[in-house]
Amino acid sequence: MKGYTLTKPFNIKEKESEEKDADSSQSKVRITKALITLSDVLRYIGETDAAYVVLGSAGIGILSETGKTLFDLEKGKRTFVVPFRECEICYNCKKGEYGKCSDLQIAGEDFDGFLCDFISAKPEKLFVLPDSVSDKEALFINHISLAIAVYDKLNIKKGDYVAVIGANNFANIFSQLLIYYQAVPIVLTLDEEDCAAVKKSGVYYALGPNDNWQKEVASITSGRMTDKVVYIADCNIPVAKAFSLASFGASVAFTGASNKSGNVSFIQAIKKQLDIHCINTAVGYTTTSINLIANKAINFNNLKIDECSYPEIPTAFKKLAQELEETGKISETIVDMM
Ligand SMILES: [Zn+2]
Repeated sequence: MKGYTLTKPFNIKEKESEEKDADSSQSKVRITKALITLSDVLRYIGETDAAYVVLGSAGIGILSETGKTLFDLEKGKRTFVVPFRECEICYNCKKGEYGKCSDLQIAGEDFDGFLCDFISAKPEKLFVLPDSVSDKEALFINHISLAIAVYDKLNIKKGDYVAVIGANNFANIFSQLLIYYQAVPIVLTLDEEDCAAVKKSGVYYALGPNDNWQKEVASITSGRMTDKVVYIADCNIPVAKAFSLASFGASVAFTGASNKSGNVSFIQAIKKQLDIHCINTAVGYTTTSINLIANKAINFNNLKIDECSYPEIPTAFKKLAQELEETGKISETIVDMM
């Protein structure tokens, strides 16, 4: 296996390595496309306590060797690889409740990610992609899974107003999912460009840096403010803003990766008795996500995405780290691995 491994902060090297944990029950996938996300960039600059492994948060590829076969897993099929592994040693895993693993392992952080030629995975981590799902769309399956997890956790219902704080690719996808399920997103962002992108994706209420958020949200919701608030970590907006848009007893979800670890005041959250959730990984929604894409529930055209080739990976990381320092955000980057 050959891939771009983090060797120390701000340093990645193409390395050849032995597969540590492959066994005959596992299948082998030739990675064709991978996605670099903010989490990867935070690992690269040393903000996240990551192991020195191959980076790359998401990936798809062609099944090249099948281990223990399951249903439609055949050689040559285009597959999505779930980027999480259960620890198999925690209390819940030992009881067989893998969905509640308390030490979920993440690709690119705890074990080798997708910026490499081949990966091995258990068959249950592989999902065959239908032809109606493009490579680009498939790389965002994790985003959709996380969006569904947030939707479920906040118990969002048809007609609910949901304040979405931030307007990155995840916010865009999450807002479209809300519309698909007939809830009403109100997106708030300090970035004009992101604001325009979510509007183009069909979000009616998108407030930018020049709007009076408090007043506008009050007017949209007839003074009730929002029962559900989703705060996306890299939005560069003070958390107090999120709390100020919430109604009494509202549910607030924090999600996403960020390099900002500032102080958060919970005064308003306590006063309003908010119900706070933190959601960063979503397991068990892959099939639903693939179906949503196949049903054209999400339009990917207005997402902010860069592209690069395999040899350009080190340069891409340098550029992304600089972009993060200068603007506080990055362009998620699709890597052509072939
Ligand atoms: Zn576990």
